[in-house]
Amino acid sequence: MIIPGCVSGFDVKGAPRITVIGAGPGGLSVALAFAQKGSSVRVFEQSAALTEVGAGVQLSSNGGHVLRALGLYDTLYSLSVPAQGVELYDCRSARCVGSVDLKTHAAGPEHLMVHRQDLISVLEGACRNAGIEVVLGERLVSVTSFEPVDFCTNTGEKTADILICADGIHSIGRSAILGNTAPFFTGQAAWRAVIPNTINHPNTARIYMAPKKHAVSYPIRAGSLINLVFVEERASWVKESWSEQSTGAALRDSFREFSSVMPFMEEVQYPHIWGLFRHPVAPQWHKGSVVLMGDAAHPTLPFMAQGANLALEDAWVLAHALSQADSIAQGFIDYQSRRMKRVKRIVMAAEKNAWKYHLSFPPLRWAAHRAISTLSRFAPRHMVQQFDWIYGHDVTQEGAEKQRSPTKAG
Ligand SMILES: Cc1cc2nc3c(=O)[nH]c(=O)nc-3n(C[C@H](O)[C@H](O)[C@H](O)COP(=O)(O)OP(=O)(O)OC[C@H]3O[C@@H](n4cnc5c(N)ncnc54)[C@H](O)[C@@H]3O)c2cc1C
Repeated sequence: MIIPGCVSGFDVKGAPRITVIGAGPGGLSVALAFAQKGSSVRVFEQSAALTEVGAGVQLSSNGGHVLRALGLYDTLYSLSVPAQGVELYDCRSARCVGSVDLKTHAAGPEHLMVHRQDLISVLEGACRNAGIEVVLGERLVSVTSFEPVDFCTNTGEKTADILICADGIHSIGRSAILGNTAPFFTGQAAWRAVIPNTINHPNTARIYMAPKKHAVSYPIRAGSLINLVFVEERASWVKESWSEQSTGAALRDSFREFSSVMPFMEEVQYPHIWGLFRHPVAPQWHKGSVVLMGDAAHPTLPFMAQGANLALEDAWVLAHALSQADSIAQGFIDYQSRRMKRVKRIVMAAEKNAWKYHLSFPPLRWAAHRAISTLSRFAPRHMVQQFDWIYGHDVTQEGAEKQRSPTKAG
């Protein structure tokens, strides 16, 4: 679709209406990114209120670059805890077997540990201030036409010039583009809880490892709360719902061997359990004027803490790619090709991490922990540098790099 008279890129201001499905980190950030380029945007969210079951989220510097470019980093910084590092504990020996220093160099965004509710509130507030209509209780039911875009929500038939589906792992948009593919159970379940920070938890993310299980703790909300995640391998997920409420007693029973290194788990009363489900990364992220982003396109396991960061990166790249392209179709092609390789690599890295944390065979576990310990003592820079390709990447500079490139300019 070539926009007549548009010589320097698809005119995102000229698009009468962009509809975003989903008010998660991906949907709200993409709505804001487009609004800041002058587009008219509305967001449809199925939930009646933007409340979150208590949970934390780590925002690494790659996500921080996007938040900074959107003008939200400083606000979020004041609500978060900047991480000083990551510490790894072996539950069997109750020893710290290694640490990674995360204090950043130069002026790069810091690694922030945030309450998910705070992230959503800051994004939603910014959207409303930018004139974006965030409609709650509005659920996408089906996409009936891709070009022009027609779709149905629980309140009736709608149209849009562009439909962005940021509707998470059970994405209706994904099914519409790719056909019905049920997400598969990854063989892991995650328990999540938030407790008051009565133990003065250091400003680090702590990872506790045991055979077939691991846990993570870190402070959030300016240090007033501790976020806890416990992951265990399970043969199946039999409940009909994707998450359920459990009890502190059941959690402590499942994670008995963690009590020596995590005595504060006694505080947990009613954790939630999520079955961790995934799809493969979608081979095609767009059809006509409908496009996928975030977990809808590429759900990832949480073991690199990158799902929300990737959604923020997608948001920026999608708005940028469309503003640079001569048509919606070309913008979508550029967006997908700029994202695919990186996303696949991070999804794979997250899968590998679960395996590393859950080693059960004692000699292998011992060797791995020894390697971590040696590396963190004698080559601490290497511990951080191995992740530079994830955390050091700045999608907000991708376009600038292209423009600076002499071959492109020529
Ligand atoms: C245990 C755990 C820990 C995690 N920790 C981290 C971390 O530390 N760092 C990190 O970066 N990521 C983390 N993640 C991953 C992160 O939460 C997700 O990747 C991220 O939320 C994806 O954002 P999204 O906007 O794409 O989708 P979602 O956050 O799933 O948002 C989708 C939104 O769309 C709405 N919706 C769905 N269907 C419809 C519909 N049909 N109509 C209207 N609205 C709809 C939903 O209600 C929801 O609000 C973690 C995940 C888990 C399970």
